[in-house]
Amino acid sequence: MLDVLVIGGGNAALCAALTAREAGASVLMLEAAPREWRGGNSMHTRNLRCMHDAPQDVLTGAYPEEEFWQDLLKVTGGQTDERLARLAIRESARCRDWMRRHGVRFQPSLSGTLHLSRTNAFFMGGGKALVNAYYRSAERLGVAVRYEAPVEALEVADGAFVAARLRGERIAARACVVACGGFESNLDWLREAWGRNERGEWPAERFAIRGTRYNMGVVLRDLLAQGVDAVGDPTQSHCVAIDARAPRYDGGICTRVDCVSLGIVVNRDAQRFYDEGEDFWPKRYAIWGRLVALQPGQVGYSIIDAKAVGRFMPPVFPGEQADSLPQLARRLGLPEAAFVRTVSDYNAACRPGTFDHAVLDDCRTEGLIPPKSHWARPLDTPPYFGYALKPGITFTYLGVKVDDRARVHFGGRASGNLFAAGEIMAGNVLGKGYTAGVGMTIGTAFGRIAGASAAQAARGGLDAAA
Ligand SMILES: Cc1cc2nc3c(=O)[nH]c(=O)nc-3n(C[C@H](O)[C@H](O)[C@H](O)COP(=O)(O)OP(=O)(O)OC[C@H]3O[C@@H](n4cnc5c(N)ncnc54)[C@H](O)[C@@H]3O)c2cc1C
Repeated sequence: MLDVLVIGGGNAALCAALTAREAGASVLMLEAAPREWRGGNSMHTRNLRCMHDAPQDVLTGAYPEEEFWQDLLKVTGGQTDERLARLAIRESARCRDWMRRHGVRFQPSLSGTLHLSRTNAFFMGGGKALVNAYYRSAERLGVAVRYEAPVEALEVADGAFVAARLRGERIAARACVVACGGFESNLDWLREAWGRNERGEWPAERFAIRGTRYNMGVVLRDLLAQGVDAVGDPTQSHCVAIDARAPRYDGGICTRVDCVSLGIVVNRDAQRFYDEGEDFWPKRYAIWGRLVALQPGQVGYSIIDAKAVGRFMPPVFPGEQADSLPQLARRLGLPEAAFVRTVSDYNAACRPGTFDHAVLDDCRTEGLIPPKSHWARPLDTPPYFGYALKPGITFTYLGVKVDDRARVHFGGRASGNLFAAGEIMAGNVLGKGYTAGVGMTIGTAFGRIAGASAAQAARGGLDAAA
């Protein structure tokens, strides 16, 4: 019988498969996507958030465990499991040598709004190169991979994995790792989770899926129906405000608009609705999709003036440009008078300070609701630029509860041979919010833990535990 069945084909699945294989287990991976679309959301990634106590190859300064933990605590508002979070953080300090052994290469961060040179190691060639390197290594080590193999259901008996079912086939294994993403690609489920708002709109209908179309949440839904212990809220997710022209799926990072903290954001009534300078962009960008989703028509407009140009990574597709504010309003289809009033009120509320986008500076507004806490400078220098935004969902946080061995829980009891890694369990660490690069930290750490646990379980060495 097969030792370890890994369901999924992205980073978490590959880390689990490679680790289980290194431990001597026979491993089969089932990837829903065809080969050319393999790698899930992981193929869109660029970096991994890493703890380190001193400068390393591509990482500057130090990013100690406590600072990483405090960052996570802040963005999640305390909705995180400290033990599991710290486990992932510590693992991030030692996983890169292992990644290199499997062909992943790193490069320093690019400059721009993301301020990531100290905290995040960038993959040379991006997530696509990472995924390809792992697949090459998996093939070399003898991991069997099947594409276009979407698992439909799991046979679970008394909390123990028995077999997976797909298209009339039944695949039994001694242990199983589920690493098949969240349910972000499933528009019906998103619609159901977000429901209808007070304006009669179904907000999720306006969402774009930034990554793969294959994370339909089929296995997650099946496990929930079988009584798995769940974590997270179905409406919570990593959700970015992206270019409103983005395609429904796989727009990836080229649809990002990274100038929010350098200007203001208004809704279709030309009203501001949130503090654009609340914190550094890497700690805030993943909440703006949700903020836009709560606005009428699920649309927002990021507005900057010429002073911001060159201070952020320019969007791939140019926005609207105008020499005056009324002209910009007309180009964006915003009510002109209201827009000019919003900008004038904002400009009048900006207090003089020393602008520095690399620190939480003292350029802030006074007497304005909502305030802009940092980097507030009047929008007074033409040309002006505007980018229409819509919610871009990256991954959902509803998932299965796990412990420090990545064991899935049923009724408070840990399974002896069913493990989870990546997005499907990320909600244990991310109850809400996000900080850039932590998705790959969680997937890599728990992928490796799940792979090791599954190999051990297949050898009969890991018991179910309360
Ligand atoms: C545009 C974009 C940019 C991102 N950038 C970063 C970044 O720079 N750093 C970072 O940390 N995070 C980033 N993320 C988030 C990151 O992608 C995820 O946190 C991480 O990739 C999750 O890994 P995973 O293996 O759990 O999921 P995925 O990589 O999505 O893999 C899930 C896999 O499961 C397969 N699957 C789904 N259902 C089934 C089924 N029923 N049967 C079989 N297979 C199935 C899918 O085909 C897919 O291969 C980004 C995401 C996107 C969309």
